[in-house]
Amino acid sequence: MKPEQTLFRRDLINWYQKHARRLPWRQTRDPYKIWVSEVMLQQTTVNAVIPYYGKWIKIFPTIETVAGAPVQKILKVWQGLGYYQRAKNFHKAAQIICTQYRGQLPRDPEKLRTLPGFGPYTTGAVASIAFDLPYTIIDANVRRVVMRLLALDGYADTSQDQRIEEFLQKSIPRKNAGTFNQALMELGALICRNRGPLCLLCPVKNHCAAYQKGIQEIIPKPKKKIIQDLDVAIGILQRGDKYLIQKRPSKGLLADLWEFPGGKIEKGETPQEALKRELKEELDIDITTSRHLMNVQHFYTQFRVNLYVFHCRPKSYPHHHASRKWLPINKLTEYPMPSGSAKIVARLQKNIDK
Ligand code: SF4
Repeated sequence: MKPEQTLFRRDLINWYQKHARRLPWRQTRDPYKIWVSEVMLQQTTVNAVIPYYGKWIKIFPTIETVAGAPVQKILKVWQGLGYYQRAKNFHKAAQIICTQYRGQLPRDPEKLRTLPGFGPYTTGAVASIAFDLPYTIIDANVRRVVMRLLALDGYADTSQDQRIEEFLQKSIPRKNAGTFNQALMELGALICRNRGPLCLLCPVKNHCAAYQKGIQEIIPKPKKKIIQDLDVAIGILQRGDKYLIQKRPSKGLLADLWEFPGGKIEKGETPQEALKRELKEELDIDITTSRHLMNVQHFYTQFRVNLYVFHCRPKSYPHHHASRKWLPINKLTEYPMPSGSAKIVARLQKNIDK
């Protein structure tokens, strides 16, 4: 290894040992808990993950408890974290670990890689942080930091990863690889921030080509975020004190979650017209009146969902179906729902409690 690489590593790790945040998953060596945290942290901020991690470990203290739980319970505990496929894959992987590896995460990265949800990031994170194997990881923080260290031109996307990987391979220590990986991610989160990197406080500024050239603010090239609006009409159907919810299909966006009936408002339609059409298509029912109850907004990474919610009076009730349920308000909260629907339930509950 070149001397400058050794110095870079030393400066980075010294800084991490002094300044790393005391996060709950950094207080354990349990591979299962490290795995939970690494899956939750993908696409989600540390602050958002902390309460979910605590709740998850309380409800599912071991891999066996995850494997033995029904998928609906897994989704319910995950509710609000988004990207629900992560939770489903976690559940499937836990079941495989219990049947094939006696409930212990395999140490061999080749075996880890075959488990559902174990892409290069999760495999590298578990192998290095839980088992101290010299595996590199590239997430958004690592990609940005290394692009700046090397003054790479371009957008922060996977097209950069070959150059980044070469750098990481040269820098990662044979021992304490997990500390090195976490230090790089921590540097990206706290110092080498997306906007306004704190270069004067940076422990590796002497190794940073972008800083030396004064171009750190324009690396990586900023991407224009396109946020799309999705307008949706939602129908609240009530029978006595019970409300109708239905399960989404098992494939696609928000698969297997429960929600109120309704659908996308097409161009030129009013929310009421869309609702009439959707309820006819979905449930084969006609509605006589629809009273506006509330509007709810929820943000996803690429789009913003605007939910227009109406109380409906159906001419007839929909037929029984395994993926439909009539439930009192206090039972609705037991079902895993997309965040928008969960917000509607909370508002309905508040109105009833008034
Ligand atoms: S010197 Fe600045 S740009 Fe370079 S790694 Fe440190 S914080 Fe990032």
